[in-house]
Amino acid sequence: MASDREQYDRLQKVLQAHVLSDYPNPTRIGCPSKEILNRLVEDRGRALDADDSYRHVIHCSPCYGEFLELIESREHATERLTTLQRFRQFLRRCLRAVL
Ligand SMILES: [Zn+2]
Repeated sequence: MASDREQYDRLQKVLQAHVLSDYPNPTRIGCPSKEILNRLVEDRGRALDADDSYRHVIHCSPCYGEFLELIESREHATERLTTLQRFRQFLRRCLRAVL
């Protein structure tokens, strides 16, 4: 039996696929700027329901695709930072052991 997390991930993928394909907007009518998309990514999870730009993004396949790409690139940046931080900690431990 799938865990709650697995069920949530599956539901999220179904919903994402729906938004990515069912709201074509080839002429990009009403699309927010890249700056606004970035702000929406930064504010993710905080009072987004009241934001008209967010409402647009979840009803516009191209914008939603860009939104997901921005989220993914930020998550990768966070992972890289974490790896770098772990490497720095390792170096500090090595230096302390040698000095
Ligand atoms: Zn759009």
